[in-house]
Amino acid sequence: MSLNVLIVDDSAVMRSIIKRTLKMCGLPLGEMFEAANGQEGLDQLNSNWIDIALVDINMPVMNGEEMIAKLRENPEFKELPVIVVSTEGSETVIERLEKQGIRFIHKPFSPEIVREIMREITGVSDEDEEEPDELDDNAF
Ligand SMILES: [Mg+2]
Repeated sequence: MSLNVLIVDDSAVMRSIIKRTLKMCGLPLGEMFEAANGQEGLDQLNSNWIDIALVDINMPVMNGEEMIAKLRENPEFKELPVIVVSTEGSETVIERLEKQGIRFIHKPFSPEIVREIMREITGVSDEDEEEPDELDDNAF
């Protein structure tokens, strides 16, 4: 099974950094979708199958917290794993997100922390990684 990922960030540079980092995680990635704000993120979720979303907080049009609130209201997306990737420093905001079971990655982040949290959330372990040789041949 491969994971379809949605990356929501108003910075195109940040989106490509996150994409590159994810490719180094050793996870079975499927398609990667992008959105520049919360509204576009919701639109992507409504038109594509997405397994996990990485969401920025500070964005125009609709910020990450509003997007997550809308997601959680929708039974279809209530259980969607969400990781917030943000410079947000407010403990209040971080606590509010963590209470909803959302993981938080501070920018700037190291590839290791992204890898660790992605593996935790998706349940892919080191053992899983060693098995599928045939997948690796076709991966890139
Ligand atoms: Mg931003």
